[in-house]
Amino acid sequence: MKFDTIVKNIQLVRPNISTVKDSNIGIKGGKIITVQPDLNSSDANIIIDGCNYMAFPGLVDAHMHTGIYTHLSNDAITESRAAAMGGVTSSINYMRTGQYYLNKTGPYREFFPEVLDISDGKFHVDYAYHLAPMMGSHIDEIDYIIDKFGVTSFKIFMFYGSHGLHGKSDDQSNFLMIGPDDKYDMAHFEFIMRGIRKAMDNHSDKKDIISLSLHCETAEIMTAYTKLVEEEGKLAGLRAYSASRPPHSEGLAIFIASYLANETDCININLLHLTSRKAIDAAMMMQATFPHINFRREVTIGHLLLDVDCPNGNYAKVNPPIRSREDVEALWESLKNGHIDWVVSDHACCSKEMKVNSNDPDNIFLAKSGFGGTEYLLSGLFSEGTKRGVSPNKIAELVCWNPAQRFGLKSKGDLAPGFDADIVLVDPNETFVVNSGESQSTQGYSPFDGYELTGKVKTTFLRGNKIYENGNILDKACGKYLKRPY
Ligand SMILES: [Zn+2]
Repeated sequence: MKFDTIVKNIQLVRPNISTVKDSNIGIKGGKIITVQPDLNSSDANIIIDGCNYMAFPGLVDAHMHTGIYTHLSNDAITESRAAAMGGVTSSINYMRTGQYYLNKTGPYREFFPEVLDISDGKFHVDYAYHLAPMMGSHIDEIDYIIDKFGVTSFKIFMFYGSHGLHGKSDDQSNFLMIGPDDKYDMAHFEFIMRGIRKAMDNHSDKKDIISLSLHCETAEIMTAYTKLVEEEGKLAGLRAYSASRPPHSEGLAIFIASYLANETDCININLLHLTSRKAIDAAMMMQATFPHINFRREVTIGHLLLDVDCPNGNYAKVNPPIRSREDVEALWESLKNGHIDWVVSDHACCSKEMKVNSNDPDNIFLAKSGFGGTEYLLSGLFSEGTKRGVSPNKIAELVCWNPAQRFGLKSKGDLAPGFDADIVLVDPNETFVVNSGESQSTQGYSPFDGYELTGKVKTTFLRGNKIYENGNILDKACGKYLKRPY
């Protein structure tokens, strides 16, 4: 047979063009062989009727945290099922040593094989990892990490210097599990950038896919404003949390990160989850000041859909915080202007029991940070994006092509010959109300609960295998580790 499978009767959505066309996709050996109208049904054993749905490339969710609040061995299974449900076929996860995650420290040459071991056979979608150098000795491992593990992207959490994951903290060394001689501070960030620059020089063939991601918030501003907001006691919930980590704390961190990137010639910089007009303005000012730096700007689906008045309140606590409606609309405006490169879920499954403090559930400062949402990434972006004039092709750039290119997934992110047959079928006309009870995730709630979205994921294919359809996970966990470049 010419093909294993033909997917017929679809509206093909490709990135980097401006039209959606009737088409068929011919698949063999997990790869797309051809994309054209009117393939002959006798050329394949399996014929799939696409019901005239839109076919997007499988999503690359470039910012997930699998295994942060629940052990990786369980989280990898359930949360990758949620990913499949959302049309995500490549999950890239931020991982680090220290508290949460595996709750241990040590060199990555020992730590990361354990991560890969636990991950093996658990993911329902393909997966990769970003790693964060938490101590000086990790910087010396960057070349090894690239060569041995195919991990080419690294992370800095700028606010960890004197602020914990959920609020102020006096005990960063315990939280980060770093030694007495290590400091997680700006000098450390500079040396990480120097290490990455060196790695780019040592790997000229991989230079373009070696990058550094930064969570940009300023610890000192956050600590001071948290004290102010708590002492004043006038604000509550998401409004209080946003005021305690104000937008200028993001802007300042973006300036510092960009200055250091220029100083160290660390030219591939990803500014993660920008949430506010001030953050975007700062990022664009830095782009203009340092045009030779290849900045990428990220937003999350949470920050595009939720605002401080959203009905699910403290369940929407996340870092950086959910902002005002005005900031949300500023993010959409930037997305439409081409100032945003990709949209992610920042999925961090934090169970209902763990999320809010049972003794004081209304206290936002005692709630844990982060929530899952990978299962609503495409529907959320499609629903709110199309209302604002964002085309399906542009959506395919934001959640497929752009992150795949940046992070070295060369066979992901498009529907064209030679690419992996990762395909998601979406009914662009089906409207549904988010009900976390239907999710594959174990989280037990969603900050999007009750939101009405249009554009439902019907079927997800991973390398030619149907892994999800109409609420059901169909296959065993057949996701594979993506050693980059892939
Ligand atoms: Zn994150």
